[in-house]
Order: sequence, then structure tokens, then C-alpha cells
Amino acid sequence: MKVLKSIISEELNRLKKDIELKFYAEHRLSGIIEKEEVINWLSNVKGINSEIQIIEQDIEKHKYLLSANLGKRVDEKTKEAQELLQTGRSHRLKFEEKHFKYIIVGGGIAAGHAAREFTRKGLQPGELAIISKEGVAPYERPVLSKSYLFPNGAARLPSFHVCVGDDEKERQLPQWYVNKGIELFLGTEVVKADLASRTLTVANGRIFMYRILIIATGSEAIKLTDFGVQGAHAKNIFHLREISDADELVKGMKRKKKGKAVVIGGGYIGLEVASAMRINDFEVSMVYPEPWFMHGLFTPAIASFYEKYFSDKGIKLFKGTVVVGFETASNEEVKIVKLKNGQVLLADVVVVGIGGRPLTTLFKGQVQEEQGGIKTNGLFRTSVPDVYAVGDVATFPVKRYGDLRRVEHVDHARKSAGHAVGAIKASEDGKSIGEYDYLPSFNSSYFDLSWCFYGDNVGEPMMFWDKSTPSTTKPKFVTY
Ligand SMILES: Cc1cc2nc3c(=O)[nH]c(=O)nc-3n(C[C@H](O)[C@H](O)[C@H](O)COP(=O)(O)OP(=O)(O)OC[C@H]3O[C@@H](n4cnc5c(N)ncnc54)[C@H](O)[C@@H]3O)c2cc1C
Repeated sequence: MKVLKSIISEELNRLKKDIELKFYAEHRLSGIIEKEEVINWLSNVKGINSEIQIIEQDIEKHKYLLSANLGKRVDEKTKEAQELLQTGRSHRLKFEEKHFKYIIVGGGIAAGHAAREFTRKGLQPGELAIISKEGVAPYERPVLSKSYLFPNGAARLPSFHVCVGDDEKERQLPQWYVNKGIELFLGTEVVKADLASRTLTVANGRIFMYRILIIATGSEAIKLTDFGVQGAHAKNIFHLREISDADELVKGMKRKKKGKAVVIGGGYIGLEVASAMRINDFEVSMVYPEPWFMHGLFTPAIASFYEKYFSDKGIKLFKGTVVVGFETASNEEVKIVKLKNGQVLLADVVVVGIGGRPLTTLFKGQVQEEQGGIKTNGLFRTSVPDVYAVGDVATFPVKRYGDLRRVEHVDHARKSAGHAVGAIKASEDGKSIGEYDYLPSFNSSYFDLSWCFYGDNVGEPMMFWDKSTPSTTKPKFVTY
């Protein structure tokens, strides 16, 4: 009873007083947070106080003939009081607003590059916050499907923090943000965005307010479970988007050393992961529905060069078919991959690389959307004043082709972030800058090969062959 009374009088009632004061004094805030939840909480705290009084009166009246009955009741109320305390603490957080001039939601490549551009253009300490779901400072994501998976000398943070992959190779370690007065809120997911009141709510209830918002939430990996593929929840089926996914994959690769890997998808991630798995001595099969891999980008001739190269490395290619289900062993680990064409593949590890989906849910119904992304103008301004979108989530005008596009590539993530910050800073000085002039540019690497793609895929390809056969030591060619 002593413990219970001290929880109530020393902690819970103090918290109640604090929350009551803030709740009733700040009407503006009470409009933002879940009003009803707080009202219920206040009334529950009132309720537990009255119940304690009743228990005390009952004790005085010697109502408890058995001490076990009293003990049980006190235990119940102590548990209740502790739960109320916990909820109350998270309610109090809701009143502890954080104010920033600029907030970036998302802590990936675009966020890191935007931060750099802010510091170049002039940033005062405390003006900028980055809120990121990931637990680490912005890093160069492409590493995850490449050197992060190498058997020897694998890349690990802090070696590939933004902007190490960029030409300028300035690595922004967590201390860099501290030195520049930028607040990094890591492991912090924004769960609600109210653009009308310029308010963001994060998972622990804390509220952030901004003058200018940059949306840089990137994409999420599309999963086979999204389509209800049978057995797709099995253990050792991996996806690759964030560093935590890569860590899971690396653990899986260690558990199933030199086993059988099935890579699903013949795009960027599929090709890079397949080559990394082969370098790790896995027996690798690739499955993709298209007639050749990198179908949207490679011409048949380029694809046939790479497909032969992959086959010569021992990777089996299953084209023109899709996965329809998985079978598992008794320990729920994936064992068999079933294909639509009736073939079955044995698997110790499966990696699914079937594309990404832009993370726009937080802003649905509040901003104009296009092609699944957030529509912007050539300065990355959205339809809402003072709200910008950059990187994977932005659908922006491509000046040279006269159309709107959404681009999931690192070069665009970097450049769009820089351009948006340039536009923000210029407008603060009453100036403006030119519209983003984007030349599409993509790149990738497998084994000891790499390629760069510039522009658009139109017309008949012309090939300028140098040493084009995969068996030559340094094959090289250009396609126009
Ligand atoms: C494995 C892999 C390899 C790739 N390789 C290449 C390549 O070789 N070449 C190439 O051009 N492109 C490549 N890409 C694509 C490239 O990495 C992306 O286009 C780029 O990362 C986009 O940058 P971004 O900042 O828009 O998004 P991201 O870098 O994805 O960052 C988004 C961030 O926002 C966070 N976030 C999302 N929602 C919330 C929320 N509600 N609250 C808080 N934080 C949130 C995410 O956790 C993440 O940290 C690769 C992508 C992957 C996954």
C-alpha cells in the first residue's frame, strides 16, 4: 500500500497536474493532439485516486479479514497506476513541442545532401532538424546491395555516410551534424503530418513544428506478401531497403554459407544481389518475368552481353516466369521456390528485389500527387506552401523531355535535394533560381563490371563495340 500511495501522490498526481495545466491552458495544442485520449486519462487518474480512498476506508473498517484479499487489490491498483504513469508520460511529450525553421522528414540520401547544401548556403545552429526512422545518420544506400555484402572487406558504417559516394567525397559523420548545429532525431518515425498546422507527430507522441518542410521519405521495398504469395512469410526470405534489412541478409548468408540462393527480380537490386551472392559462393538462380533483365533500360544486345556474363559466372537465369509460392521446412525456413511455369527451385536464402513504392501515405489527401509520388514544380515545391518534396517521392517536371517523372536513383536524390535547398534559400533572399534541369543518369556494378546510363531510352540503339565478349579480360562497349 505504501508503494502504491507513493506512485499516486508523488508521480501520478504531479503528472496529472502538469498535463491539466498544459491541456487546458493551450487550446491551440489541444486541437492538435488526440483530445479524447487525454480527457480519458485525466478521468482515469481521478478514478484511481477515489479507489485508493475507498481501499483506505475499507482498511479502517477492518473489511479485509484476509490479508491476501487486500494484497490482491493493492497489486491490481499498483499495476493500473504504473500503466497510467506510462501513458501520462507519453501524453506529456505531446505538449513538448520542438520548433525548427526547417525540418526534413526522412534521413536518407536526399536528407544528407540537403543538410550539406543548407550548411553551404548558410545555416544557423538549431534551425534544421532531420527526423529519421532509421537508427543511423544518412548514408549512401546503394552500398547495401554491393560492397556491404562482400565476403571480405565488406563496407560498414561509418565508411559510407553521405556524401562519400558523391564526387566531393565529404563524409558527414554523426558529429558533423552536431558541429553544424543540426539536430538528428534518429530511430524516430513520423506517424502523422498535418500540413495545415505545420505539425508533425512522431511515434512517441512528441510534436515537431516547422516553418519549411522537406519531404524525403524515399521508398519502401515491395514485398511478395503484399500480393498474398503463398509462403512468402517464410524465414530466410529477405528484402533490401534499409541498413537493418542488409544486416538481416548478411546474418542469413552467414547461417546458410555457400548454400542455394534464389534472387527474385531482374532489376537493379536483383542483379547486384545475385552477383554479390555468387561472390559469396552461393549457388545462385535468378527469376524474372521479362524476356531479359534490366528490361526497361538495357537493349536486347546489352542484356545478352550481361546475361551471358552472369551465366558464365554460374548464375542460372529463369526468365519469363514468376514465383507463385514457397514451401518451408519444419523450422519455417524457406526450402522450395515454386515458379508459374511449373519449375521448382531449392533455396536456402531468397532475396526479393521487385521494386519500390514511394512513401507518401503521411501526406495523402494533403498534397497533390502524380504517378504515385508527390507532385512538385521545377523547384521541388509541392502544392502546399512551404512544403518541398525531393528524392524518390517527388514527381517533377523533366524540362528537356517536357514531361513529369518520378525517379528512384541516387544521382537525382542528391541533385533534387540540393536544388530544393537552393530554391528555399534564394526565396528567403527575395530571389529565385532556375528550374531543375535533369539529365537522367543511372549506374550499377556487378562482379568486375559497371555501367552508366545517361538520358532516355529512345530510338534504335547503335553500338560502338570495343572488347565486347564477356570472356575478354576487360570487356568494354558504348551504346548510343
Ligand atoms: C539496396 C539499394 C541499392 C541501390 N543502388 C542504387 C544504385 O546503384 N544507383 C542508383 O542510382 N540508385 C540506387 N538505389 C536507389 C537510391 O538509393 C534511392 O533512389 C535513394 O536512396 C533515394 O533517396 P531518398 O533520400 O529519396 O530516400 P532514402 O535514401 O530511401 O531515404 C528515405 C529515408 O526516410 C526514412 N523514412 C521514411 N518514412 C519515414 C517516416 N515516416 N518517418 C521518419 N523517417 C522516415 C527512411 O527510413 C529512410 O531513412 C538503390 C537503392 C537500394 C535500396
